[in-house]
Amino acid sequence: MRDHYDVIVIGGSAAGLSAALILGRSRRSVLVVDSGEPRNARAAGAHNYLGHEGIAPAELSRIGRDEVAAYGVEVTAGRVVAASATSGDGIDPIGFAVTLDSGAVVSARRVVVASGAVDVLPEVPGLAEQWGRGVVHCPFCHGWEIRDQRIGVLVTTPNGAHHAMMFRALSDRVTAFVTDTALMDDTELAGLAARGIAVVTGPVAAVLSEGDRLTGVRLGSGSFVELDALATASRPEARVDFLSRLGLAATDQLMGDHRYATALTVDASGQTAVRGVYAAGNVAAPMATVIASAAAGTQTGAAVHGDLVQADLAAALTGVGAGVA
Ligand SMILES: Cc1cc2nc3c(=O)[nH]c(=O)nc-3n(C[C@H](O)[C@H](O)[C@H](O)COP(=O)(O)OP(=O)(O)OC[C@H]3O[C@@H](n4cnc5c(N)ncnc54)[C@H](O)[C@@H]3O)c2cc1C
Repeated sequence: MRDHYDVIVIGGSAAGLSAALILGRSRRSVLVVDSGEPRNARAAGAHNYLGHEGIAPAELSRIGRDEVAAYGVEVTAGRVVAASATSGDGIDPIGFAVTLDSGAVVSARRVVVASGAVDVLPEVPGLAEQWGRGVVHCPFCHGWEIRDQRIGVLVTTPNGAHHAMMFRALSDRVTAFVTDTALMDDTELAGLAARGIAVVTGPVAAVLSEGDRLTGVRLGSGSFVELDALATASRPEARVDFLSRLGLAATDQLMGDHRYATALTVDASGQTAVRGVYAAGNVAAPMATVIASAAAGTQTGAAVHGDLVQADLAAALTGVGAGVA
């Protein structure tokens, strides 16, 4: 690891490695710092990634790391704990210092934040243990694998009726567990009935498993409902604690009054409110799939390269950048 790079990418999964790939191919010096916890780590396969349909998440990352290494990108295992602005490197007036959990401090002209999100789950005993396996959130990611099965939909947000309908398209054995009747109006309940979705109201006390296999849910009343899979909404929260010294924080993403996620705000190029700090993937777009996150990483990497090209030109015109390659 050197002391200084053109770009430090924080997070080495779909978005971060895609940004690193286009930057490496543009002959930028790039360091990717990755703590190895992609959001979909618990899933057996990543679906809807054309060319790699169903690939294990860890395998996609391994391929990506090999691909970026071929263009001189360095990938290091570690966690970024802080990032702050510097006065640049004498050629470029914009610069950043990034501190890793090892204590190492590395500087760069630009930063790409691709640290993803953490899913906050409904607090039901036994649910977290099955996350990404028997408990799923996304009909596009897991729906095909549980088609025609007994699917429960745990409704904890105002979007629950739509969520149940999405899974009804995959199986005719769907039960909606409506934990709070305020979450669903009569029209939505009539819609569920019209589509043959059973409705159980009241609290769900626990998600039950035998070994690795989800077997069903125990209701607040004590009765047991047998299931093959349980769907529920998570709340993805952007991983951005390490950006506080830069004054960057995630903001609430709202659907009506409902806070469904938090995310960094970026413009179309991936630029955050701090000049020179970019973001791509779930950290800025919590609903983005793997391929959409990879695409955002590519676009953002291209924008960062364009930004550096302009900075190199400005330096050359003022004479300070005579040595810029
Ligand atoms: C259970 C589950 C299953 C899913 N299945 C699918 C699917 O089948 N198909 C699909 O398209 N989408 C799926 N998704 C969505 C998918 O996970 C995201 O679209 C994708 O992971 C976003 O990529 P990303 O690069 O933005 O973030 P991530 O993949 O989450 O990667 C972020 C990386 O940054 C690292 N990081 C975080 N903080 C730091 C730090 N401070 N320092 C250094 N590194 C850091 C993390 O360790 C991680 O490696 C699924 C999501 C879940 C929860």
